[in-house]
Formats: sequence, structure tokens, C-alpha cells
Amino acid sequence: MSFDIQKINADFADKSPQEFLQWAVGAFYPRITMASSFGAEDMALIDMFAGPAGRLALQDKTIRVFTLDTGRLNEETYELIDRVRARYKIAIESYFPDPRKVEALERTKGFYSFRESLENRKECCSIRKVGPLARALQGTAAWITGLRRDQSVTRAGVQKIEVDDAHNGIFKINPLAAWTNDQVWQYLREQGVPYSKLHELGYSSIGCAPCTRAIKPGENIRDGRWWWESPEHKECGLHLPKREKK
Ligand code: SF4
Repeated sequence: MSFDIQKINADFADKSPQEFLQWAVGAFYPRITMASSFGAEDMALIDMFAGPAGRLALQDKTIRVFTLDTGRLNEETYELIDRVRARYKIAIESYFPDPRKVEALERTKGFYSFRESLENRKECCSIRKVGPLARALQGTAAWITGLRRDQSVTRAGVQKIEVDDAHNGIFKINPLAAWTNDQVWQYLREQGVPYSKLHELGYSSIGCAPCTRAIKPGENIRDGRWWWESPEHKECGLHLPKREKK
């Protein structure tokens, strides 16, 4: 598949997430999937394609949704996943890490090695997230994410469509790239979309329980992730730098 992604990004710069999603589904269906951690952005996106308006606009095309069950998620996340299944009548595929790798990690380094060094943290994310993501993306041409530019310094350059060099050059689709946090929450409230109870406890981002906390007033929305690390390191390896043309 060949696309001029600079032109597509320019064409959709002022278009809504729903319009871009419709284009992306038309271009890549059925080899398009969505990764969800069930944070606010992901819930907005699921509603955009699996809610009544989305189903109509996408002519009932079903987008495959998957989640990375790292084994360290919050109880509230598992509860929300089941609520989403029931409400939207969609299957959610969970991908678990290789148990032999998790067992080896826990036996040799314990259960909280990720707090000891950046290297250890990346090792844990690699086993629990990056490996399972590669399995989840096998056979796909594009994946949808809830990345937004104003989430952090590491995401300031996010485009609506990017080439994902880390995954065989497939396309990454970021319909909410230009949205603010307020726009996400306005959408959730207006559409009555379910969301994680963790957000009511001050969590601005949803991830693994031991690596995510509520944020304090004045903190950035990614400050609750790996709060012991500096901002430029706050990625788990799922979202690596992009290329502009393919
Ligand atoms: S977020 Fe924390 S617990 Fe989850 S995979 Fe990464 S280091 Fe491990």
C-alpha cells in the first residue's frame, strides 16, 4: 500500500476525528485494528466507531479492538473492559505476555524491578507490552491509537497518519492527534460514554497499576506515569519515532 501521508495529513488537518476515522477505515478495512488501554481517549474512539453514529457512518464495519493485558492492570480497567463489551457488543482481544519471560523476570529480579533503573523499566515494558503488541499487529496494515500531541513532550509531533517503523512500516492512525484533553472529555460527557473509575480518582492516564498514579493540581497529564523518570523517557516502547513518507 502506498500513500502520500504528508498530503493526507494536510487534507485532514482541519477535519474531525470521525471524518479521519471514516477515511482510514475505508482505506485499510479489514486490516485495521485498534489498541486500547481504556483511557479517556480510547473510550472516545471506541464510541466513534462502535456507537450508533459510528456504526452508521462506517456501514457496520467492525474494527478489531485489542488490549495488552500486562498482568499488572488495575481492577477498574478489567471492569471497564467488560462494561465496554456489554454496551457496544464488540469483542475485545486481550494479548498476554509470554509467561516464560514473565516468570524469568520475576524470579531473577523480583516484582518491582522497573523502579530500580530505566533499563529495568524498559525490560519489563518490553516483555509485558512491546512483545504482545507485535503479536497483536501481525497481519494488519494499520492500527488506531488515542495519541494526542498535547499529552507530553514525547508526543508533540504526532500526526494523524504516520508510518510505524517499529512494526514493519504499517500505518499508525491517530484521529485525536489535534484534540485537547478538554475536547476528549466534552465528547465523553455529551455522548454519555463510559469511562474508567480511575479518572474520578484523579488518574489522567490509564496504564499498569504500579506505574501509574493520580496527578496533582498543576501536573501534566502524563506526570502520573513512571513519575520517578524524566519526561523525555515516558514511553513504554509502543510508540516509536515516525517517518513522514512511504
Ligand atoms: S508500565 Fe510498569 S508494570 Fe507495566 S509493563 Fe511497563 S514497567 Fe512493567
